[in-house]
Amino acid sequence: MQLFDLHTHTTYSDGRNTPEEMIHEALERGLMCFGISDHSPTPFDPPGGMPEGTEKLYAEAIRKLKARFDGKIRLLLGLEQDFWSPAYEETYDYIIGSVHYLYKNGSYLAVDDTPEIFEEGVDRLFGGDFLTACECFYDQEAAVAEKTGCGIIGHFDLITKFNEKHHFFDTEASRYKAARKKALDRLLEKPVIFEINTGGLFRGWKTGTYPDDETIRYIRENGGRVILSSDAHRKEAIAWQFEELSGKLKM
Ligand SMILES: [Zn+2]
Ligand SMILES: [Zn+2]
Repeated sequence: MQLFDLHTHTTYSDGRNTPEEMIHEALERGLMCFGISDHSPTPFDPPGGMPEGTEKLYAEAIRKLKARFDGKIRLLLGLEQDFWSPAYEETYDYIIGSVHYLYKNGSYLAVDDTPEIFEEGVDRLFGGDFLTACECFYDQEAAVAEKTGCGIIGHFDLITKFNEKHHFFDTEASRYKAARKKALDRLLEKPVIFEINTGGLFRGWKTGTYPDDETIRYIRENGGRVILSSDAHRKEAIAWQFEELSGKLKM
Protein backbone atom coordinates (compact mmCIF):
# COMPACT_ATOMS: atom_id res chain seq x y z
CA MET A 1 0.00 0.00 0.00
CA GLN A 2 1.11 3.55 -0.65
CA LEU A 3 2.36 4.72 2.75
CA PHE A 4 1.88 8.44 2.27
CA ASP A 5 -1.07 10.78 1.93
CA LEU A 6 -0.39 14.35 0.88
CA HIS A 7 -3.84 15.86 0.40
CA THR A 8 -5.53 16.48 3.76
CA HIS A 9 -7.32 19.31 5.54
CA THR A 10 -7.48 20.44 9.14
CA THR A 11 -9.26 23.02 11.27
CA TYR A 12 -6.95 25.63 9.70
CA SER A 13 -9.35 25.55 6.74
CA ASP A 14 -12.50 23.46 6.40
CA GLY A 15 -11.33 20.19 7.99
CA ARG A 16 -13.04 18.77 11.05
CA ASN A 17 -9.92 17.65 13.00
CA THR A 18 -6.88 19.49 14.29
CA PRO A 19 -3.47 18.83 12.71
CA GLU A 20 -2.47 16.80 15.81
CA GLU A 21 -5.55 14.58 15.52
CA MET A 22 -4.84 14.02 11.84
CA ILE A 23 -1.19 13.15 12.47
CA HIS A 24 -2.09 10.67 15.23
CA GLU A 25 -4.51 8.95 12.88
CA ALA A 26 -1.88 8.84 10.11
CA LEU A 27 0.50 7.17 12.56
CA GLU A 28 -2.17 4.70 13.54
CA ARG A 29 -2.70 3.81 9.89
CA GLY A 30 1.01 3.13 9.53
CA LEU A 31 1.81 5.96 7.14
CA MET A 32 5.48 6.91 6.87
CA CYS A 33 4.86 10.33 5.36
CA PHE A 34 1.91 12.64 5.89
CA GLY A 35 1.17 15.95 4.25
CA ILE A 36 -1.20 18.63 5.46
CA SER A 37 -2.48 20.80 2.63
CA ASP A 38 -5.10 23.22 3.86
CA HIS A 39 -7.03 25.40 1.43
CA SER A 40 -5.54 28.72 0.36
CA PRO A 41 -7.66 31.77 1.25
CA THR A 42 -10.50 32.45 -1.19
CA PRO A 43 -11.59 36.03 -0.41
CA PHE A 44 -14.40 35.81 -2.99
CA ASP A 45 -15.84 32.82 -1.01
CA PRO A 46 -14.44 33.01 2.53
CA PRO A 47 -15.80 29.67 3.85
CA GLY A 48 -14.00 27.84 1.05
CA GLY A 49 -10.48 28.52 2.31
CA MET A 50 -8.40 29.43 5.35
CA PRO A 51 -9.32 32.85 6.74
CA GLU A 52 -7.39 35.69 5.15
CA GLY A 53 -4.31 36.64 7.11
CA THR A 54 -3.87 33.22 8.73
CA GLU A 55 -1.43 31.68 6.27
CA LYS A 56 1.60 32.44 8.42
CA LEU A 57 -0.06 31.02 11.54
CA TYR A 58 -0.89 27.85 9.66
CA ALA A 59 2.60 27.39 8.25
CA GLU A 60 4.26 28.03 11.61
CA ALA A 61 1.97 25.60 13.41
CA ILE A 62 2.69 22.78 10.97
CA ARG A 63 6.45 23.50 11.05
CA LYS A 64 6.37 23.14 14.83
CA LEU A 65 4.55 19.83 14.52
CA LYS A 66 7.15 18.68 11.99
CA ALA A 67 9.78 19.10 14.66
CA ARG A 68 7.60 17.53 17.35
CA PHE A 69 6.90 14.39 15.33
CA ASP A 70 10.39 14.11 13.92
CA GLY A 71 11.50 10.46 13.94
CA LYS A 72 7.90 9.22 14.19
CA ILE A 73 6.51 10.32 10.85
CA ARG A 74 7.75 12.50 8.02
CA LEU A 75 5.38 15.43 8.15
CA LEU A 76 5.17 17.80 5.17
CA LEU A 77 3.77 21.31 4.95
CA GLY A 78 1.62 21.66 1.88
CA LEU A 79 -1.02 24.00 0.53
CA GLU A 80 -3.97 23.37 -1.74
CA GLN A 81 -3.76 26.50 -3.82
CA ASP A 82 -7.00 27.39 -5.55
CA PHE A 83 -6.71 28.66 -9.12
CA TRP A 84 -8.22 32.02 -8.13
CA SER A 85 -6.55 32.54 -4.74
CA PRO A 86 -4.04 35.34 -4.19
CA ALA A 87 -0.39 34.24 -4.39
CA TYR A 88 0.85 32.40 -1.31
CA GLU A 89 3.45 34.01 0.91
CA GLU A 90 5.00 31.11 2.83
CA THR A 91 7.46 28.46 1.66
CA TYR A 92 5.85 25.05 1.26
CA ASP A 93 7.16 21.53 0.79
CA TYR A 94 4.67 21.13 -2.05
CA ILE A 95 1.67 22.79 -3.64
CA ILE A 96 -1.49 21.09 -4.87
CA GLY A 97 -3.06 23.13 -7.67
CA SER A 98 -6.85 22.91 -7.77
CA VAL A 99 -9.73 24.40 -9.71
CA HIS A 100 -12.82 24.71 -7.49
CA TYR A 101 -14.51 27.70 -9.14
CA LEU A 102 -15.52 28.78 -12.60
CA TYR A 103 -15.04 32.47 -13.19
CA LYS A 104 -17.32 34.27 -15.58
CA ASN A 105 -18.73 37.79 -15.87
CA GLY A 106 -17.18 38.80 -12.56
CA SER A 107 -18.73 35.85 -10.67
CA TYR A 108 -17.18 32.79 -9.10
CA LEU A 109 -19.14 29.56 -9.22
CA ALA A 110 -18.11 26.66 -6.99
CA VAL A 111 -18.36 23.37 -8.89
CA ASP A 112 -18.20 21.24 -5.71
CA ASP A 113 -20.37 22.97 -3.11
CA THR A 114 -23.88 21.60 -3.64
CA PRO A 115 -25.65 20.31 -6.78
CA GLU A 116 -28.19 23.11 -6.38
CA ILE A 117 -25.54 25.85 -6.33
CA PHE A 118 -23.80 24.28 -9.33
CA GLU A 119 -26.99 23.95 -11.36
CA GLU A 120 -28.25 27.43 -10.53
CA GLY A 121 -24.81 28.89 -11.37
CA VAL A 122 -24.59 27.13 -14.73
CA ASP A 123 -28.06 28.47 -15.54
CA ARG A 124 -27.08 31.98 -14.56
CA LEU A 125 -23.58 32.15 -16.06
CA PHE A 126 -23.70 29.68 -18.95
CA GLY A 127 -27.37 29.77 -19.96
CA GLY A 128 -27.80 26.25 -18.61
CA ASP A 129 -25.19 24.84 -21.00
CA PHE A 130 -23.20 22.40 -18.86
CA LEU A 131 -20.78 21.49 -21.64
CA THR A 132 -19.76 25.14 -22.00
CA ALA A 133 -19.23 25.19 -18.22
CA CYS A 134 -17.05 22.06 -18.60
CA GLU A 135 -15.02 23.79 -21.34
CA CYS A 136 -14.50 26.75 -19.01
CA PHE A 137 -13.44 24.37 -16.23
CA TYR A 138 -10.90 22.52 -18.36
CA ASP A 139 -9.51 25.76 -19.82
CA GLN A 140 -8.69 26.76 -16.24
CA GLU A 141 -7.44 23.26 -15.41
CA ALA A 142 -5.07 23.42 -18.39
CA ALA A 143 -3.45 26.51 -16.87
CA VAL A 144 -3.48 25.38 -13.22
CA ALA A 145 0.21 24.42 -13.12
CA GLU A 146 1.37 27.80 -14.47
CA LYS A 147 -1.10 29.74 -12.35
CA THR A 148 -0.40 28.03 -9.01
CA GLY A 149 3.14 26.74 -9.47
CA CYS A 150 1.94 23.36 -8.24
CA GLY A 151 3.71 20.03 -8.34
CA ILE A 152 0.52 18.04 -7.82
CA ILE A 153 -2.70 18.40 -9.83
CA GLY A 154 -5.65 18.22 -7.43
CA HIS A 155 -8.82 16.33 -8.42
CA PHE A 156 -8.37 16.90 -12.17
CA ASP A 157 -12.05 16.33 -13.06
CA LEU A 158 -13.75 17.78 -9.97
CA ILE A 159 -16.53 19.15 -12.17
CA THR A 160 -17.89 15.57 -12.34
CA LYS A 161 -18.56 15.57 -8.57
CA PHE A 162 -22.36 15.61 -8.77
CA ASN A 163 -22.70 14.02 -12.18
CA GLU A 164 -23.29 10.42 -11.14
CA LYS A 165 -26.32 11.43 -9.10
CA HIS A 166 -27.57 14.33 -11.20
CA HIS A 167 -26.49 13.63 -14.80
CA PHE A 168 -25.92 17.29 -15.55
CA PHE A 169 -23.80 16.51 -18.62
CA ASP A 170 -22.63 13.59 -20.73
CA THR A 171 -18.99 12.71 -20.09
CA GLU A 172 -19.07 10.69 -23.32
CA ALA A 173 -19.92 13.82 -25.38
CA SER A 174 -17.19 14.71 -27.86
CA ARG A 175 -17.07 18.30 -26.62
CA TYR A 176 -16.47 17.10 -23.06
CA LYS A 177 -13.75 14.68 -24.11
CA ALA A 178 -12.04 17.27 -26.31
CA ALA A 179 -11.94 19.85 -23.49
CA ARG A 180 -10.57 17.27 -21.04
CA LYS A 181 -7.93 16.05 -23.50
CA LYS A 182 -6.75 19.58 -24.24
CA ALA A 183 -6.17 20.19 -20.52
CA LEU A 184 -4.47 16.82 -20.04
CA ASP A 185 -2.13 17.33 -22.98
CA ARG A 186 -1.08 20.71 -21.69
CA LEU A 187 -0.49 19.46 -18.14
CA LEU A 188 1.39 16.39 -19.37
CA GLU A 189 4.06 18.73 -20.73
CA LYS A 190 4.70 19.97 -17.19
CA PRO A 191 6.68 18.31 -14.40
CA VAL A 192 3.54 17.57 -12.38
CA ILE A 193 2.04 14.55 -10.66
CA PHE A 194 -1.67 13.84 -11.00
CA GLU A 195 -3.43 12.73 -7.86
CA ILE A 196 -5.95 9.91 -7.83
CA ASN A 197 -8.28 11.46 -5.29
CA THR A 198 -10.59 9.27 -3.17
CA GLY A 199 -12.49 12.17 -1.55
CA GLY A 200 -15.64 11.79 -3.67
CA LEU A 201 -15.74 8.08 -2.86
CA PHE A 202 -15.48 8.71 0.88
CA ARG A 203 -18.29 11.26 0.80
CA GLY A 204 -20.49 9.01 -1.30
CA TRP A 205 -20.87 11.34 -4.27
CA LYS A 206 -18.96 9.06 -6.56
CA THR A 207 -18.38 5.37 -7.14
CA GLY A 208 -14.94 6.10 -8.57
CA THR A 209 -12.02 8.45 -8.12
CA TYR A 210 -11.01 11.83 -9.50
CA PRO A 211 -10.00 11.44 -12.24
CA ASP A 212 -11.88 8.54 -13.82
CA ASP A 213 -10.15 5.40 -15.07
CA GLU A 214 -10.11 6.48 -18.71
CA THR A 215 -8.24 9.63 -17.72
CA ILE A 216 -5.83 7.76 -15.44
CA ARG A 217 -5.04 5.38 -18.30
CA TYR A 218 -4.41 8.30 -20.66
CA ILE A 219 -2.10 9.95 -18.14
CA ARG A 220 -0.13 6.73 -17.65
CA GLU A 221 0.07 5.97 -21.39
CA ASN A 222 1.47 9.41 -22.00
CA GLY A 223 4.18 9.23 -19.39
CA GLY A 224 2.35 11.05 -16.59
CA ARG A 225 2.85 10.16 -12.94
CA VAL A 226 0.10 9.45 -10.43
CA ILE A 227 -0.28 9.13 -6.65
CA LEU A 228 -3.22 8.29 -4.42
CA SER A 229 -4.53 10.98 -2.11
CA SER A 230 -7.53 11.13 0.17
CA ASP A 231 -8.47 14.82 0.32
CA ALA A 232 -9.43 13.93 3.91
CA HIS A 233 -11.47 16.58 5.70
CA ARG A 234 -11.70 14.36 8.80
CA LYS A 235 -9.39 11.77 10.26
CA GLU A 236 -11.51 8.78 9.24
CA ALA A 237 -10.86 9.59 5.57
CA ILE A 238 -7.06 9.47 5.73
CA ALA A 239 -5.61 7.07 3.11
CA TRP A 240 -9.20 6.07 2.30
CA GLN A 241 -9.25 2.84 0.26
CA PHE A 242 -5.58 3.18 -0.68
CA GLU A 243 -5.08 -0.56 -0.37
CA GLU A 244 -8.12 -1.45 -2.51
CA LEU A 245 -7.25 1.12 -5.15
CA SER A 246 -3.51 0.55 -5.38
CA GLY A 247 -4.02 -1.13 -8.78
CA LYS A 248 -4.87 2.29 -10.22
CA LEU A 249 -1.26 3.34 -9.77
CA LYS A 250 -0.28 0.75 -12.37
CA MET A 251 -3.07 1.22 -14.92
ZN1 LIG B 1 -9.91 20.65 -3.53
ZN1 LIG C 1 -8.66 19.32 -0.78
